[in-house]
Amino acid sequence: MDLQNLLDDIVGAVQPLARQGAAADYIPSLASVDTSQFGISVATREGEVFSAGDADVAFSIQSISKVYALALVLARDGNSIWKRVFREPSGNPFNSLVQLEHEDGIPRNPFINAGALVVADRLLTVTGGSTTAVRELLREESGNFSIDSDPEVAASEARNSHRNTSLAHFLASYGNLENSVDDVLDAYIKQCALAMSCTDLALASRFLATNGLRADGTPLLSPPQTKRINAVMLTCGTYDAAGEFAYRVGLPGKSGVGGGIIAVVPNNCSICVWSPALGRSGNSVAGVAALDEFTTRTGWSIF
Ligand code: GLU
Repeated sequence: MDLQNLLDDIVGAVQPLARQGAAADYIPSLASVDTSQFGISVATREGEVFSAGDADVAFSIQSISKVYALALVLARDGNSIWKRVFREPSGNPFNSLVQLEHEDGIPRNPFINAGALVVADRLLTVTGGSTTAVRELLREESGNFSIDSDPEVAASEARNSHRNTSLAHFLASYGNLENSVDDVLDAYIKQCALAMSCTDLALASRFLATNGLRADGTPLLSPPQTKRINAVMLTCGTYDAAGEFAYRVGLPGKSGVGGGIIAVVPNNCSICVWSPALGRSGNSVAGVAALDEFTTRTGWSIF
């Protein structure tokens, strides 16, 4: 398999789709990104990286950060998080308040905002209040120690976080937060505002393709824990379009409103695609098309 040729081909095929859809604008600073950009990177389980297009341009990882927060909580605290958050697809918008009330303050899964707030809360507790645990993991796994939160994106989200603030207060009212609403929102917004490139993210996600082994060969997660994160990504990782994503791509994946998507071929490689324009489901139009092309042409799908 000549991966480099394949990625170059994919850039040619999907670049025309890059302007289909629109950049997210409910976080105002995300709306100003040039939507013609598209990048793709693949990191093999051995650590080799293949990239094409705008693979080295940093973008806002947003909800993709929820995967690493969950991994850290499972790694440091085991399964107890599952008493506070379910692991079923929500069938509702990722920031729904209604569902949280119906379900007595237990979020449907760790990748909708309510669930990610519970995970961020637990991570704050197990790290003794650190808001940089996700950043440190991503720096170490990618080898890029300049990765940081974009302060402008974080400030922009903080000024417009009425829904997440409401969700956090709802969770607190059900006794499902251990830290203050302000501290949890601050940690959550900082992790979402991390700026990374496709190359950074493909490398940083490699532990999901290596049964939980970190870049230095030590275990972050056990193989069963890794399997379970990949399973939750498959069923809940791409908003209310996880069925369509499984149908087209056939891999565990996690998308973010910044237009990035990570995907995992277990025991083989981790992939990151990015293009800022989102379709109606909130997933990057060119990004999903590129992953569809990648798995169709390589045959590397879990199905
Ligand atoms: N920070 C964003 C929010 O909470 C993340 C959304 C996303 O990428 O799905 O709305």
